[in-house]
Amino acid sequence: MPTVTIQDIKRHAKRALITVASIVLLLSALVVWAWQDRPEMADTGLHLQVVDDIPEAAVTATWLGVTTLLFDDGETQILIDGFISRPSLFESLTKRPVTYDAPMINYVMNEYQMRRLAAIIPAHSHYDHAMDAGAIANRSSASILGSESTANIARGAGVPEDQIVVAEAESTYSFGDFTVTLVPSVHAPIGLRGEVPLAGTVDEPLALPAPITAWREGGSYSIVISHPQGTTIVQGSAGYREDALDAVQADVVMLGVALLGSLGRDYAERYWQALVTSTGAARVFPVHFDDQTRPFGEIVLPPRVIDDFSRTARWLKDIRDTWDRDTQLYLPVFGEPIVLYPEQTPDA
Ligand SMILES: [Zn+2]
Repeated sequence: MPTVTIQDIKRHAKRALITVASIVLLLSALVVWAWQDRPEMADTGLHLQVVDDIPEAAVTATWLGVTTLLFDDGETQILIDGFISRPSLFESLTKRPVTYDAPMINYVMNEYQMRRLAAIIPAHSHYDHAMDAGAIANRSSASILGSESTANIARGAGVPEDQIVVAEAESTYSFGDFTVTLVPSVHAPIGLRGEVPLAGTVDEPLALPAPITAWREGGSYSIVISHPQGTTIVQGSAGYREDALDAVQADVVMLGVALLGSLGRDYAERYWQALVTSTGAARVFPVHFDDQTRPFGEIVLPPRVIDDFSRTARWLKDIRDTWDRDTQLYLPVFGEPIVLYPEQTPDA
């Protein structure tokens, strides 16, 4: 029997250590590479919506990342969602308690002149939609309109009860010349096992700091925003209910596309038909295509391994060409007002 010396054991241990270290190093390099492998905006092949001058009477929508959209007709403003604080990737992955970025909220409300806010309407109650709705309401006299979960998010922020409105299905709400209807919809099944991530409701006032998992979906809506000049639908998440919008005619659809790529092209086609074909919209703007873990104002597409938006954009173009040839498909430009109902727009 050969004798095993201490030297032998040390040599083997060293070799094993080197092997494990090499594998860890290689895997880390692979993760870093995959995380940085992201399509550029130009890879989407979609035109950017650029507006040179804005007619005085125009109804505009300004996209502020994810699905945060500021509607304005010159007299009344409506904010869809309210997501400015944007917790980092580290905070999201570690589920560390997060709180409002108050200086950034103040800056954004000043920079985008949110001085006539009449309503703040989250599409659902996940943090990337509703996180700052309460903090914004506290800096304005706007009503927060949404689900019971959204109401509890507002209460946690200390929003006075008379500013909180729990939406009733199919009821309409008037804000200046805008009329808003919250049509019950569903969230996209984009969890790892095809479930709705962070489902459930927020049943108590949600005080911060809290981990991002504290914001539960709380029900999703197709938000139909009508104005004498036209109608826009905001779909925060790529979920849909067949026939839910059959009675709705729209000019513009703000189409939530986060992780739509993971649901497959057939799903994307049905989603398009439910939101665009059935409403007859003349223009579609994908939203919720930016990496939500980046700070406010930084628009970067997610890593291809997570959600390849350049591929999703090609699908959308194909689907548009199949079903709605005359519908224009644009990408919104961060912070630039979109004239929602122009008499004429160049082809895209
Ligand atoms: Zn969501």
